[in-house]
Amino acid sequence: MLHRKSDTEKYSFEIGPIRPPNEGGSKSLLIRATRNCSWNRCAFCPFYHEKKFELRDVKEIKKDIDTVKRINEMLVEGANLETVPYHCLSLVLAWFKSGRRTVFLQDSNSLIMPTDQLVDVLDHLREVFPSLKRITSYARSDTILRKDLDELTDVREAGLTRLHVGLESGDDHVLKVMKKGVTAEQNIRAGRKAMEAGFELSEYVMPGLGGDEYSEEHALNTAEALNKIDPHYIRMRPLTVHPSSELYKMQERGEFTPNSPHRRLKELEIMVKNLEVSSKLCFDHALNGWRNREGAYLFDMGYEGYRLPEEKDHVLKLIQEGLSVDESLLSGITATNL
Ligand code: SF4
Repeated sequence: MLHRKSDTEKYSFEIGPIRPPNEGGSKSLLIRATRNCSWNRCAFCPFYHEKKFELRDVKEIKKDIDTVKRINEMLVEGANLETVPYHCLSLVLAWFKSGRRTVFLQDSNSLIMPTDQLVDVLDHLREVFPSLKRITSYARSDTILRKDLDELTDVREAGLTRLHVGLESGDDHVLKVMKKGVTAEQNIRAGRKAMEAGFELSEYVMPGLGGDEYSEEHALNTAEALNKIDPHYIRMRPLTVHPSSELYKMQERGEFTPNSPHRRLKELEIMVKNLEVSSKLCFDHALNGWRNREGAYLFDMGYEGYRLPEEKDHVLKLIQEGLSVDESLLSGITATNL
């Protein structure tokens, strides 16, 4: 049966390109609060090239939330869903089946929205879906620093309770070369401020970002920055040099040499040895592709990870085991694809 375009437009809502894997694991509903990246300059990042950052109109965002509500009602009523575009239906269906508990606000830095507008969207979300237990977003450190503590607290009290921040490295040279746009000190202050405002904080670290040359500095200074923040979660996202990234061109010009899988594991060993945190250390992404002696993944890829400091020795033993595996079996780890 053919449908008029307006039939499917009626039940369509906007979905951005990425979300953290653990939000996929909990089948989070994706609500696009902003489009693309407000910074868009990190040398390693392939995601938003040539895409302009845009704040979305609050009315538009609320309309998307209301559309999800209507699809949700149609599911309950057992209505004909042929007029709902497949990508919207599959997302709402997974969310519906998992109990409609979590929402992830896209895209890469939704905290940058004016605070009153963000609070307005959060209020609407919680009013429309009272079953929500958690709303989450990515946030850049410089954006966290630009908001007052009171504003951050308002946002958290309105329901955005978990922030994912790309720390990447605690080494200033690495951060500069990678054009991250923040210093280690800013990352530390932002992390502390987010914790002070009561957010549950995930800091993302990128093993391999210092390349072969700055591997040790990257490890030591990242551990030091994390020690000063002591976030709830430390999530490992090893570097891959994507062909469309600026880093790929740097590599071709000989300005960056990726480190080998073993050297990267050594880097991780230095980092973990120097961590003095009470965080959960997570390897919850397939990019953590190191193998154990049996050929299985070396680290548990669960979203809750290893509890530090209790499981630090266990993680260090796993690293030793990984180092005993022939490096030629691990060549995919520094591959130039995602
Ligand atoms: S890594 Fe994050 S902040 Fe950097 S360009 Fe990509 S999306 Fe933007």
